[in-house]
Amino acid sequence: MQVLSSYDQLRAYRQALPPGHTLGFVPTMGALHAGHAQLVAEARAQNTAVLVSIFVNPTQFGPTEDLSRYPRTPEADLALLEQLGADAVYTPTPEDLYPPQGQLHISLTHTSRLLEGASRPGHFDGVALVVTKLINQTHPTRLYLGQKDFQQTVVLRQLVHEAFLPVEVVVVPTVREPDGLARSSRNRYLSPAERTAAPQLYRALSSAGQQAQPGLASAAIVQAFAASLALEPAFRLDYAEVVSGFTCQPLAALTPEDRPVLVAAAYLGTTRLLDNLPLLTHTVG
Ligand code: AMP
Repeated sequence: MQVLSSYDQLRAYRQALPPGHTLGFVPTMGALHAGHAQLVAEARAQNTAVLVSIFVNPTQFGPTEDLSRYPRTPEADLALLEQLGADAVYTPTPEDLYPPQGQLHISLTHTSRLLEGASRPGHFDGVALVVTKLINQTHPTRLYLGQKDFQQTVVLRQLVHEAFLPVEVVVVPTVREPDGLARSSRNRYLSPAERTAAPQLYRALSSAGQQAQPGLASAAIVQAFAASLALEPAFRLDYAEVVSGFTCQPLAALTPEDRPVLVAAAYLGTTRLLDNLPLLTHTVG
């Protein structure tokens, strides 16, 4: 596996790829876990070459968020990627992506202002900026994203569509711990007691999801979710909503043609957990 620690090295790698190659690209912020591994495995199965980036992107963090304490585990990340059969890992410096005096900013509207965008103003602007730059630097055939960050997949699909970025977006199902907790780099912030409480988020999604039927009011699902989450008093709900699986816009009722998804974010102490559950999957195939 090649470690490309500058844009120059990435360019050289890119230019040396053989004619007819396909390149699967997995952007990450490191502190890799089984969720990232699943993205790499999909990319490995579908492409002749696999490139993973590790970059803790400052522009997607708010001023009071966890940029400086975001977990960084470079040696373990490289060992895992080697084991997974990635061909190359790109570890740019901030200057490789953000030149001094940079003037480029992306300001997204609509979907990116809802839910995560409402709780984290500017978050998706930063995600869109770094992903646009990374796609332009790496020229991948396919871009691999996790369902875990459902709204991000909607925002980035729309970005790719609107900005005519020549890449195919592939969304990979959420990888969970055996107790249901979605794998996340931020899970390591949880205290032992919080870790014990954490699976209630997915249990609450699942129990609300069991009540889903075509035509049911979304409010009934959200209420069922909130009641189940409240069984674990350590949780503080940020938001829960039933949204369209295509646009992430709120749905008043569970209309199968909109592929409804129950999305939620909740705090355990200072750690914010994010999860979602596609609803009515048995009725929409
Ligand atoms: P991050 O390093 O948190 O920015 O995540 C990099 C990519 O991995 C994003 O596309 C995430 O949605 C994806 N990802 C993170 N956690 C999981 C998970 N538990 N299952 C599947 N994909 C995930």
